[in-house]
Amino acid sequence: MPGRRLQPAIGGLVVALGIATMHYVGMSAFKVPGNIRWDFAFVAASLGSGAVFSIMAMQVAVHGLHAKSWLVAVALLTAAICSLHFTAMAGVEIVENPAIAVPTSTISDGWLALAVTCATLVVLGLGLAAIVLDIRDSRRSEVEVGRLRELANASVEGLLICDGDSIVDCNTSLAELCGRSGADLAGQPLKTCFADEVVVKELLARPNEVLETNLLHADGSISPVELIAKPISFSRGLRYVVAVRDLTDRKRAEREIHFLAHHDALTGLPNRNTFHSRLNQLIAAKQSGFAVLYLDLDRFKEVNDLFGHAIGDAVLRSVADRVTAGLSNGETMARLGGDEFAILSPGTATSAQASKLAERVIGSMHSGSDDGEMRPISTSIGIALFPQDGTDSEALLSHADTALYCAKADGRNTFRLYDADMGAEAREKRLLEHDLRTAIEQRQLHLFFQPQQGVTSEDVSGFEALLRWRHPERGDVSPGVFIPIAEETGSILDIGRWVLREACREASTWENRLRIAVNVSAVQLYEPDFAREVHAILLETGLSPHLLEIEITETALVRDLNRALAALRQVKALGVCIAMDDFGTGYSSLSNLRAFPFDKIKIDGSFIRSVNSNEQAAAIVRAVLGLGRGLRLPVLAEGVETDAELEFLRNEACDEVQGYLLGRPAPIEVFRRMTHPGQESKTISLAS
Ligand code: C2E
Ligand code: MG
Ligand code: MG
Repeated sequence: MPGRRLQPAIGGLVVALGIATMHYVGMSAFKVPGNIRWDFAFVAASLGSGAVFSIMAMQVAVHGLHAKSWLVAVALLTAAICSLHFTAMAGVEIVENPAIAVPTSTISDGWLALAVTCATLVVLGLGLAAIVLDIRDSRRSEVEVGRLRELANASVEGLLICDGDSIVDCNTSLAELCGRSGADLAGQPLKTCFADEVVVKELLARPNEVLETNLLHADGSISPVELIAKPISFSRGLRYVVAVRDLTDRKRAEREIHFLAHHDALTGLPNRNTFHSRLNQLIAAKQSGFAVLYLDLDRFKEVNDLFGHAIGDAVLRSVADRVTAGLSNGETMARLGGDEFAILSPGTATSAQASKLAERVIGSMHSGSDDGEMRPISTSIGIALFPQDGTDSEALLSHADTALYCAKADGRNTFRLYDADMGAEAREKRLLEHDLRTAIEQRQLHLFFQPQQGVTSEDVSGFEALLRWRHPERGDVSPGVFIPIAEETGSILDIGRWVLREACREASTWENRLRIAVNVSAVQLYEPDFAREVHAILLETGLSPHLLEIEITETALVRDLNRALAALRQVKALGVCIAMDDFGTGYSSLSNLRAFPFDKIKIDGSFIRSVNSNEQAAAIVRAVLGLGRGLRLPVLAEGVETDAELEFLRNEACDEVQGYLLGRPAPIEVFRRMTHPGQESKTISLAS
């Protein structure tokens, strides 16, 4: 009955009782010619010493810590027998008494021999039976232990059997896990496997509780494990089975999840959340002064469009690597999303220091370009300083953003430090930009149309579609204001698509098959899908391609002449006409006129308005008209406001005109007479 503290003592008493019974029964069979007297003090002493030694023998046998403890137990058991026997014999006194006759034999020799033989045979028989039982028992337990071992080895978890804190056995999983064999571990203390002694103590003191610690390997390395101990009764007593679960994979997964939650997967930089919490930490620590730098890559969208997303990703990674390589200790770069990055620089307290840092960052973008043919990418940077530009994260970030906006507006590849003056203008732009994003859904955009007509004929030849934005609070916002903003933010793509679709849809309903001219921004032209989109819209609205004219300004072409040319050729291949808008204001490059497949030149209105007062303007208009004739391109004069201007253009054999004199831009209903001949125009007051 293992597990009970008093069992060895009770067992020892049973053994002592056995020895005493044997001794005193023997003595009572002793026949001498005299009286046997017992000294009861010796009797008690004999019983006492027998009991004490027996109990000690049992105690050592069951709980002996040493492998050879059983030898001590044997010696103690011998001491129990001898001490009881000899002490009892010392208390015997025989007083001679001749009156007592000792019979020569109590039983006859024959019977005695028989009895001794029988007793001997019984003892031998019992001995043999015990041996047979013992062999059978040990075979059975061998089979059982073998089965248990197989079962234990099949377990994926490591298993240790310990006696106290010393290891008795282990399974193969554990041996593999710590790189030691079971034989090496047997007899070793638990701290061979688990260096943390506090955990070892807790493990045995609180069975069934899960603990985490490190497993010591044979080579001195460690790995995280989870332990749980369970008490079991095993052969000679109470043992513990310790299950050891390897946590390496789980810990790695946890680390990865933690990393992903705080970092950007593409560049490995801290992400937006981490950036915000570091910024808040710096603010909370009342750091003497630090700088927030907002970075936005210049024309990154083009990289993606031209080279594909894989190269775009590579560029982002290389930007992250180059910039972080140039940062000093304590400076953190984070990726906020897309092509936006931010740098926190504790210790950068003055404008001069911040400017140096920004220059370093811009410089590091160009250093050692290893991207082959790819153009080096540049970045614009906006800087806000704590505490002068803001004492909370919201103010700092919004001011850094404002400064970034100004850096972009000032030609990119540069940095700007926030100052309060830039705030108002940039904020205004930001607000417009924000409202513009929802303008389509909110139905705030609509089209006005302005007629175009031949100089000599009275009939209208087509209309130009001009975009209008009625802002719910600001009223009408001029396209001269919002189109550049939409181009900067990219919302021109959606807006331009909407304009093209609306204009084509409108024109397709006209009874009179008139041309519709639509202004197209450079940003749209450089979209890889532009021609396909135009085609889709023509199919969708059913407008014949030759009735559509696309107006492009020269500035749209110069950014990348080859791409612009490719895009215009594709559009032209659809049968769509292309007009060069605002000619005279931009580069007015003759080589562009020749190289691009234009169908028409539109002279900018600013020249027309001065033809009668300014000789130079008149000369320019004449020259452009001559150019058109030479290149066989019709010329349209914009902004014709007076009869005198019209007269001049007629004399100079201009082809077409457009301007307030012939009609101000207005809703199409105003021109119903022209689009649907024979029907009356509605009277609508002109808004523009
Ligand atoms: P634009 O394409 O050169 O358009 C002609 C501009 O001159 C229009 O200004 C028109 O209202 C104005 N205009 C027409 N006749 C006269 C006149 O006799 N006198 C004066 N003073 N002005 C006249 P608006 O509508 O303000 O548009 C300005 C510019 O905004 C346009 O110049 C065009 O570049 C751009 N824009 C307009 N709508 C769109 C559009 O849908 N998409 C794109 N990308 N740009 C557009
Ligand atoms: Mg135009
Ligand atoms: Mg124009």
